[in-house]
Amino acid sequence: MRDRAALFARLARSHFRSRFRLGAREQHTLDRHGPHVIRAHAADFVATRLAPANPPDDGRQTPMRNHPVFIAQHATATCCRGCLAKWHGLPPDRALDAEEQAYICDVIMDWLAPRHDPTAVPPDPQRSLF
Ligand SMILES: [Zn+2]
Repeated sequence: MRDRAALFARLARSHFRSRFRLGAREQHTLDRHGPHVIRAHAADFVATRLAPANPPDDGRQTPMRNHPVFIAQHATATCCRGCLAKWHGLPPDRALDAEEQAYICDVIMDWLAPRHDPTAVPPDPQRSLF
C-alpha cells in the first residue's frame, strides 16, 4: 500500500496544503457527528464527486468551507482528479474502484481524526427533550 507517512510529510512541506484549518462550523460538525459518521460523509462525497472518470468541472467540485471533509480534502490533495493524479498517482481518465475510494477516505480521516474533540459535546437542537 501507499506510504501515508511519506504523503503527510510531503503535504506538510506544501505551504498551500498546510494552511488549511477547520473553522468553527466545520469543527462543530466533526465533534457533533464523530469520525464514524464523518467517514460515511467522506465516502459519499468521494463516490459522487471524485470517483467518475474525468468528472465535469474538475477542480471545482470541492467547496472551500462548510464541511470538515471538504477542508481535509484540500489539506490532503484529495479535492479533485487533478490533485489525485499529481499527489496520489491516480490517473484521472478512469473511474476509481472501491479500494481507491477507501484509500482516499483513509487519507481524509488520517487528517480529521486527530482533530476530533470527543469532549466537545455541543447541544444538538435535533435531540431536544421536547
Ligand atoms: Zn484539487
